[in-house]
Amino acid sequence: MRNLLNLNDPTLLRTDAYIDGRWTATDARFAVIDPATGEDLADVADCDAATTNLAISAAHAAQRGWAARLPLERSTLLRALGDAMFDNEADLARIIGLENGKPFAEAVGEVRYAAGFLTWFAEEARRTNGSIIPSPFADTAVLAVREAIGVAAIITPWNFPAAMMTRKIGPAFAVGCTIIAKPAEQTPLTALAIAELSDRVGFPAGVFNVVTGSAESAPVIGEALTSSRTVRKLSFTGSTVIGKLLATQCAATVKRVTLELGGNAPLIVFDDADLDAAVAGTIAAKFRNAGQTCVAANRILVHHSIADDYTERLCAAVDQLKIGAFDSDAQIGPLIDDVSVTRVQHLVADAVSHGATLVRGGDVTEAGSQFFAPTILTGAIPTMSCHTDEIFGPVLALTEFSTTSEAIAIANNTDAGLAAYIFTRDHARAWNVSRQLEYGIVGVNTGAISAPEVPFGGVKQSGIGREGSHFGTYDWTELKYIAMAGLHPEQDPTQ
Ligand code: NAP
Repeated sequence: MRNLLNLNDPTLLRTDAYIDGRWTATDARFAVIDPATGEDLADVADCDAATTNLAISAAHAAQRGWAARLPLERSTLLRALGDAMFDNEADLARIIGLENGKPFAEAVGEVRYAAGFLTWFAEEARRTNGSIIPSPFADTAVLAVREAIGVAAIITPWNFPAAMMTRKIGPAFAVGCTIIAKPAEQTPLTALAIAELSDRVGFPAGVFNVVTGSAESAPVIGEALTSSRTVRKLSFTGSTVIGKLLATQCAATVKRVTLELGGNAPLIVFDDADLDAAVAGTIAAKFRNAGQTCVAANRILVHHSIADDYTERLCAAVDQLKIGAFDSDAQIGPLIDDVSVTRVQHLVADAVSHGATLVRGGDVTEAGSQFFAPTILTGAIPTMSCHTDEIFGPVLALTEFSTTSEAIAIANNTDAGLAAYIFTRDHARAWNVSRQLEYGIVGVNTGAISAPEVPFGGVKQSGIGREGSHFGTYDWTELKYIAMAGLHPEQDPTQ
């Protein structure tokens, strides 16, 4: 295998599982593939149930000691890990870009975003405050304290291999949980590099364990994690179908579950919108990671009176997008695999066969078999697959509407409820429509909504719980109520 990664620090390339502070080899291996070229990047440990159970035992042995450390000590380690990510930004971006396919500028952006969760939660580690409640009982103090849930499992997707990991380990480590993480088959190298950095900055053995596996092993690892009585929580980011399966598996042991699942974001352009801002926002909300984001604009709803103008400007903006591999100055990289290419091709064909018009793109380009052209469809209707399904590719499906209530009805006509976007200059409309949208996140006149400071998560079948922000540690703690009786005031002998 050629050394395709070409890192400044080659020791960041780790290919074994990380368990109890040790790199743990397995006989079975699986290949990590560069989606731009189809070449093998590395052969990685393909873990089984026994290896997963070793990681659970290590996390269990470490948990009480980790939770007993002063919050400031956990904070200091988290900050050191975040700083180590910033210090190794170029190498981490290269690993992300090669295994995931996103362009270099986006990969650097992901490293900074991901490291930002660690530095944010380094601060929050010192603020997991509880409450002292005015007591309803005589001579009794009533307190509510927040305690780490304990050993937790993390399962992450390939589309943000660094950020989806740090958005979970940040709050987990801040409050005193220990972790068994399973990254996606396509992108395990980023998680292993973060584990390597955690080792270097001095995280204790057993606090952070990474169990890698092929797609065939994922159900085996998932079963070991979800059936374990030691594992008290699962935090999953991925597809809605797998999220439902894992939540069902977790029911048997009544685990706490955080689910960050698929979206189907509407983006509504009203007749009073600043069209330049709307076009820029649409490009930002659609084409990051070649449209493979959970908050990607999926259904573009445009007021009929400005539809032609908006579409013309959108076409001009799409024509400027460059397609290419990681180390070029491209904005659009490859789709993650050929299954994704086929799925997006079917969505476009379904729309066209039901009456939509293809005005840009529509298929893969000469850049390679997984490089799908930025695509614009007009005349999309709610029964088409591009409305009912999460597109997860660089395809914009435009639908015209006449009234605000019609736009809201179309926008809410889905089981998903993660992100929505609206473009209008009218503040009253912005407020009222935001409140009527059944979504966890609403972007008003912007297509960029993600940051460590904000609460990220969905309603309906897009998930349970929130990640990031000062709410972000709540999903990793249990509230314990303590009633301390017998607090009689001392008798004063002089009275
Ligand atoms: P996925 O197929 O559900 O996979 C996600 C993770 O689950 C991967 O690590 C996968 O492992 C693992 N997995 C699959 N089957 C499993 C099983 N039976 N037991 C245990 N683990 C299992 O999702 P994806 O295709 O990687 O990611 C895309 C989806 O994630 C989209 O729907 C997107 O919207 C969603 N997403 C949501 C958010 C959010 O914050 N709401 C953020 C990012 C992505 P393998 O890769 O080894 O199969």
